[in-house]
Amino acid sequence: MPRSHYDVVIAGAGHNGLVAAAYLARAGRAVLVLERLDHVGGLAVSARAFPGVDARLSRYSYLVSLLPSKIVKDLGLRLELRRRRFASYTPVGDTGLLVDNEDAARTAASFEAVTGGRHDLAAWERFYAMTGHVARRVAPTLLEPLRGRTELREVVGDDEAWRDLFERPIGEVVAERFADDTVRGVVLTDSLIGTFADPAADLLANRCFLYHVIGDGTGDWNVPVGGMGAVTTELAEVAQRHGAEIRTGAEVLAIDPDTGEVTFDDGAEHTVTADKVLANLPPAVLARLLGETPERPEGSQLKINMVLSRLPKLRDPAVDPAEAFSGTFHINESRDQLAAAYAQAAGGKVPDLPPAEVYCHSLTDPSILGPELREAGAHTMTLFGLHMPARLFADPAAKQEAVARTLASINSVLAEPIEDCLLRAPSGEPCLEAKTPLDLEREAGLPGGHIFHHDLSWPYGEEGDHGPWGVETAHERVLLCGAGARRGGGVSGIPGHNAAMAVLGHA
Ligand SMILES: Cc1cc2nc3c(=O)[nH]c(=O)nc-3n(C[C@H](O)[C@H](O)[C@H](O)COP(=O)(O)OP(=O)(O)OC[C@H]3O[C@@H](n4cnc5c(N)ncnc54)[C@H](O)[C@@H]3O)c2cc1C
Repeated sequence: MPRSHYDVVIAGAGHNGLVAAAYLARAGRAVLVLERLDHVGGLAVSARAFPGVDARLSRYSYLVSLLPSKIVKDLGLRLELRRRRFASYTPVGDTGLLVDNEDAARTAASFEAVTGGRHDLAAWERFYAMTGHVARRVAPTLLEPLRGRTELREVVGDDEAWRDLFERPIGEVVAERFADDTVRGVVLTDSLIGTFADPAADLLANRCFLYHVIGDGTGDWNVPVGGMGAVTTELAEVAQRHGAEIRTGAEVLAIDPDTGEVTFDDGAEHTVTADKVLANLPPAVLARLLGETPERPEGSQLKINMVLSRLPKLRDPAVDPAEAFSGTFHINESRDQLAAAYAQAAGGKVPDLPPAEVYCHSLTDPSILGPELREAGAHTMTLFGLHMPARLFADPAAKQEAVARTLASINSVLAEPIEDCLLRAPSGEPCLEAKTPLDLEREAGLPGGHIFHHDLSWPYGEEGDHGPWGVETAHERVLLCGAGARRGGGVSGIPGHNAAMAVLGHA
């Protein structure tokens, strides 16, 4: 006979819900996780996206940076996060800017070739030494009760870094520190992932930037071996081993914040009660389930997943495609190109030359390909397109236009069309799927297709917060434990951890 009362009910089995479940079950709490879909993982899943093609793509999120080693250690997670040797490659005409994590001389030569001088390399080293310092100081605080703004500034302990990352628009800082348009763009893309903002004016871009450089005290973006699905499968196993009950195909329909009643549908309607209800849901979805008025966030990205029969040829003879595509490969993302695309998208138009970045998971971790594909030299390729806000896709024809322009944008920097490299599925269809923000809203239940559930927040407490962990809501019984909490966003497990700590009274 299933229980009718739990210490904690968690709505949603995204990775954060699973982290919370694992911590709480480990502490002896009776935990029920209810997941709407027929599988766990939320936006951190692997999928065979093309029928008959044995490639397990990280369909939504694909790289891990923000997951603290402390969570991995606390929960005893068996995960391998592999460092990428090449951080990035940016084609520029017939050459390109290569950032090689293990060969400083090669990186320096590449800066020399592309920027025509040493200034930007020195500026780059100074800038990332500064972000590295901030990462080491701020990352550990993310798993502690919130500090106020002044306290966090003291933790950072560097006035210049504080001003440049927290107070001045990042676009202005980058324009001042770097001379080269390409280098400026490479730095700025981290402020625009899933975030529609003008980095020259809007501090929202700073918040996005910060989350891209502080992960686990290093800011490295690592490849989860086995794909994102391996991360959430492991989390679900650990949570269950500690006694958490996980029910998939169970959609939460309503939460009563006064009684702790949670009504869900798994084919039939049921109600359970809980002392605490944790919402691994976007704040807009939680508001709806509480009977309140939801906000309307807006995501801004075009995600394209591909399987290639071979890597495309580059125009640059000095770099092997296997090097260039194993890091983040920037496409038409110079500072001026980003600004032009932003202006067009803000004016309601799909950008003429969409800025985007691609990366091949299978170059670092071939285990996601079946043996035949591996032997044949196939690869997965993931594209993340910037400045594609949800508002552009109200007209269904806009998706086709956005995909066509994005492919043309890739082709503008390659020596051959990407279409010639796409693997064909047994059906004869090319292996390419594209997801606009509105597709994500439909498929993944993300309001406005916002990949962080809503706009990223500063990592310090502000007026209006309901409690010390940044997960509390106006209702004592109900806590957020997803990306929409303060210090949420990305594959981090941080809001899951923090919600569990709030429940366990570790303030
Ligand atoms: C295209 C894309 C690329 C990204 N790339 C990266 C990346 O490379 N690295 C990175 O760190 N981050 C990335 N992100 C962001 C990151 O994936 C998310 O911010 C993070 O995974 C959110 O995790 P979560 O557990 O908080 O929520 P989610 O993963 O959204 O989980 C919420 C869960 O709740 C379930 N649910 C919703 N409504 C109900 C209901 N009524 N009842 C029951 N269950 C419900 C959902 O089905 C889902 O399983 C990306 C996101 C997207 C979309």
